Amino acid sequence: YGFKSDRSHPRNEGVDDLQDEEELGTARPVQIVVADEEEHSFLLQEAALERLLLREEVQDLNVVVVSVAGAFRKGKSFLLDFMLRYMYRQSPDSWVGGEEQPLTGFTWRGGCERETTGILAWSEVFVMEKPDGSKVAVLLMDTQGAFDSQSTIRECATLFALSTMTSSVQVYNLSQNLQEDDLQHLQLFTEYGRLAMKEVCEKPFQTLMFLVRDWSYPYEHPYGLEGGRSFLEKRLQVKPNQHEELQNVRKHIRSCFSNICCFLLPHPGLRVATNPHFDGRLKDIDDEFKKELLNLVPALLSPQNLVEKEIGGVKITCRDLVLYFKAYMKIYQG
Ligand code: GDP
Ligand code: MG
Repeated sequence: YGFKSDRSHPRNEGVDDLQDEEELGTARPVQIVVADEEEHSFLLQEAALERLLLREEVQDLNVVVVSVAGAFRKGKSFLLDFMLRYMYRQSPDSWVGGEEQPLTGFTWRGGCERETTGILAWSEVFVMEKPDGSKVAVLLMDTQGAFDSQSTIRECATLFALSTMTSSVQVYNLSQNLQEDDLQHLQLFTEYGRLAMKEVCEKPFQTLMFLVRDWSYPYEHPYGLEGGRSFLEKRLQVKPNQHEELQNVRKHIRSCFSNICCFLLPHPGLRVATNPHFDGRLKDIDDEFKKELLNLVPALLSPQNLVEKEIGGVKITCRDLVLYFKAYMKIYQG
């Protein structure tokens, strides 16, 4: 798998619809990196990316890139929709929405999101004010691929490496637990990323959040960031009697990110998980889940918690990010 970028590739279709839709005020997910299954490569949708990031109001602002990454059907879109609600309200309370309000955005309904390997971004880059009064641009990304066979693991490693290199916060979305193979996959794609980055800096990446969905041991480690911290401490511990490979995975991961955290999220309830007619309204979601959601989303997106994207220790703008995307893509093209 390599990366390619091609402005005139037929898959750029739909980009012009985007402008029309935005003029009507309907933002939506946009595919910015697409897998080309026949050619075993990835394509950067340059025109789409530029349309998002080179908009007058955002191009010169420092950028915050929050990516949610992981396998299909694990609730990424569901979470991103709540992140969108927060971004649209930009208020510490009542952002979560009404009891009867269906979820919209990245949702699995509406046909705008097929189960394709690649990176999606929300078409609206949000402008937010930090506590010090400075303005930043916030880009939300959704990275997905399958880690279910040897070949797809290798293919996806480059994709996940790209989203880790271009984001300031990578939310690694996991189901039920943090398993040894989740750590191995993370090691693989951070290794790909590290190789691609020219600057030999100590910690090439910024914030990593392990997000464990359907956590079912709150009595051992409570839900939320605090429980996540004690769980992670235990899980990433390097012990002298551990197999060398297990030790290395842990050391490697710690060495790659300047900040690592973990959030344990409860199961949202059977209506969310199994009812085919569920449309995201709050009244169908378990209270415990909603309570934790009110902590999780601001932990990622509230003005005081925003992490600006840095490369080689320097904050970059939306305009710079376009260039980095293109440069990283070229590297994998080989
Ligand atoms: P994605 O493919 O990772 O984007 O997953 P989706 O957000 O489309 O969700 C896939 C399915 O899982 C939907 O039926 C959701 O209602 C459901 N779902 C969403 N969040 C959770 C969760 O935290 N736990 C469980 N068990 N199901 C969830
Ligand atoms: Mg999805």
